Amino acid sequence: MNELNLRIPGPIPVAEDVLEAMASPMINHRGPQFEELLYRVTDRIKQVFETDGDVYILTASGTGAMEAAVVNTLSPGDKVLNLSIGFFGDRFGEIARIYGAEVTDLSFPWGQAVDTDAVRDALRSAPDIQAVLVTHNETSTGVSNDLEAIAGVVKGEFDKLLLVDGISSVCSIPLQTDAWGCDVVATASQKGWMLPPGLAFVSFSSRAWEAYDRAAMPKYYLDVGQYRKYYQKGQPPYTPGLSAFFALDLALEKIAEEGLGALFERHKTIAQMTRDGIKALGLQLFPDESVASNTVTAVNVPLGMSGAALLSAMRERGVVLGGGQGPVEGKIFRIGHMGRVEPSEIQEVMDALEDALPSLAS
Ligand code: PMP
Repeated sequence: MNELNLRIPGPIPVAEDVLEAMASPMINHRGPQFEELLYRVTDRIKQVFETDGDVYILTASGTGAMEAAVVNTLSPGDKVLNLSIGFFGDRFGEIARIYGAEVTDLSFPWGQAVDTDAVRDALRSAPDIQAVLVTHNETSTGVSNDLEAIAGVVKGEFDKLLLVDGISSVCSIPLQTDAWGCDVVATASQKGWMLPPGLAFVSFSSRAWEAYDRAAMPKYYLDVGQYRKYYQKGQPPYTPGLSAFFALDLALEKIAEEGLGALFERHKTIAQMTRDGIKALGLQLFPDESVASNTVTAVNVPLGMSGAALLSAMRERGVVLGGGQGPVEGKIFRIGHMGRVEPSEIQEVMDALEDALPSLAS
């Protein structure tokens, strides 16, 4: 049905057999079949998160998992440091603020990564900060933060609670939840997991559970305590998106077959091919290449060219790209390369760009 080359940074194209799995008949979500399914997929998700801690599956988008990270660990009035390098970093801080946390923003210019020295300074000058929020991979700017280094400061030097938006990184680029000391990691199915949207996954360390016991922010649907209680019975607290669970089961089997090392390597290679292709066309990457993401490539719209016209010219050529968000709307475009992307699909993007650009130049 979809003849277009969908190259936005999520949702991403989903394999035919995974789509077919979604058409499986419904089952009792409080019966033995679901219990088996829930335990099998949770164990496999934990392997991808590289955690021995807890992971829960929410029927929600990624933002739901970010909100779960906040409301389950914090109280109104808590002091929080939000490290933002773009649109989704700002969103994380906004969620905490709406629930009453006292948020200090440590924001970096769009296109740049978090500077760990600045994090150290901020934590040193405000010892009452309880938690740090950070985006691993900022999808709006195509920048990957060095999460290991950030965690080294936040946990290693200051022992703060660390909440991570791993929505466009987990299952695409390495994120070692336990080894790096990430207390909560949020992610969503429509990204590297090669699934349709609808499910979100959230990990919880023992330190996060300690925070949970004190956390006074209001919550109901996103209360992970309910997920923990029901998990022990092999059940979800509320009716889950069953069709997406069926797809998840198959996608995880494929991920296990490929192996995480090979999967990360594949993302690295395809991202490099994308960046090289862009530069070969004489276009400019939006971020500095040293911090460029392996899941999404952000590119400057050439001066004098309309970003909207570029996107529609590409669509006419069968390629769907992402535009810029917030302050970079119309100024950048984004190429998603999460999941199983063939080099030929990236080549198609480059060929279409080469064909479209001369007609767009003013
Ligand atoms: N954070 C990041 C880094 C994202 O890429 C996205 C989705 N583009 C979100 C948060 C929000 O996720 P969702 O749209 O699934 O709620």
